[in-house]
Amino acid sequence: MDFINYYMPTKLLLDDDVITKNSTLFTTYGEKALIVTGKTSSITNGSLKDVTNALKKEGITYEIFNDVEENPSLETVENIAKLGKAQKSNFIIGIGGGSPIDASKAAGVLINNPNATRYSLFKSPHLKSIPVIAVPTTAGTGTETTPYSIVTDNELQTKHGICQKIFPEYALLDVKYLMFLPEKITINTSIDALTHLIEGYLSTNASILSDALAEKGLKLFGECLNMIKEKDFTYTIRKKLMVASTLAGMVIAQSGTSLPHGMGYSLTYFHNIPHGKANGILLKSYLEFCTDKNKVRKILYLLTLENLDELSYFLNSMLGDINNVSYEDICSYTDKMILNKNKLKNHPTPVKREDILNIYKDSLKL
Ligand code: NAP
Ligand code: FE
Repeated sequence: MDFINYYMPTKLLLDDDVITKNSTLFTTYGEKALIVTGKTSSITNGSLKDVTNALKKEGITYEIFNDVEENPSLETVENIAKLGKAQKSNFIIGIGGGSPIDASKAAGVLINNPNATRYSLFKSPHLKSIPVIAVPTTAGTGTETTPYSIVTDNELQTKHGICQKIFPEYALLDVKYLMFLPEKITINTSIDALTHLIEGYLSTNASILSDALAEKGLKLFGECLNMIKEKDFTYTIRKKLMVASTLAGMVIAQSGTSLPHGMGYSLTYFHNIPHGKANGILLKSYLEFCTDKNKVRKILYLLTLENLDELSYFLNSMLGDINNVSYEDICSYTDKMILNKNKLKNHPTPVKREDILNIYKDSLKL
């Protein structure tokens, strides 16, 4: 037991009708709210209506930005900030998957610091955001309990995290919003949560506390495995996945992510592979590369899997192949990854260029 360094200040509520039941909490944050959401899902699943009804009930005025794309760009973050500054928003409510919630965190920094530019998001770590309240409607990123905001940077042609640490003030979880999540998105996002649990568990920064959370999350995921295979996404399974995903967020809030996430960003940026799928496809080769075989065995045990081949079979049958990536592509992504010191330092043993290339090669069968 070397060290413990634990911090997770987000107040978390999971309940049926959590927003309606707890509308008064919004009054703590001011009179003008900015709602940030994706294109349509928050209308379909009822989360937007629940939030606007709660705000009306509490006499809070609001603007809505409902155009956050998947893997949100810095341009989108700037557009949200423009609206927030014009409205003089006191706080942001991010509703949706990781994309709108991450965009809310980054825009919150720009709104709170009118002289800040997009470049400040990567070089001024002490800037604070206006308060962010997260209403997750996917069970995958765990962003509701992490301080991270991952944005797409078209100048650098990659995704990366802003340098400010923005934990949401509240995470408001209601399983009913997940009931409308299509199969494919349910699978991809759940595999994202699985990779968070695994990368966090194997991280340089893992501690007895983050391991306790990761082990519980892996056990919950293991309990869902057969139903995921069957694509039988009942309320009970979705609730377990939501809790596993939130636990996974609490894990990576302490440990960060490492190789699969860093390597997956290029697959998403250049080939439009959904985030969870991009990480998941790399997972088996990554686990073969990891030297802490005791922990790898424990992961498999908690997932109720016999060996890595069984994990690989599960991941491949759930995620499908990736066909449009060439050998030249992965050489170039390897060159990018070897420069990503933040991710590399989270992996507990030295990583060489050829190690990264081999994980790509093996995972993509090149
Ligand atoms: P997402 O990009 O937020 O959303 C994916 C799709 O799911 C969108 O088309 C969205 O539609 C739809 N959707 C969301 N909720 C739905 C629901 N309840 N029912 C039906 N459709 C729904 O997906 P995500 O995987 O949650 O987030 C991925 C992003 O999070 C990536 O940018 C990734 O890098 C980031 N991430 C962040 C962290 C962190 O700690 N901050 C960790 C891991 C990943 P609409 O557009 O219509 O809403
Ligand atoms: Fe992720």
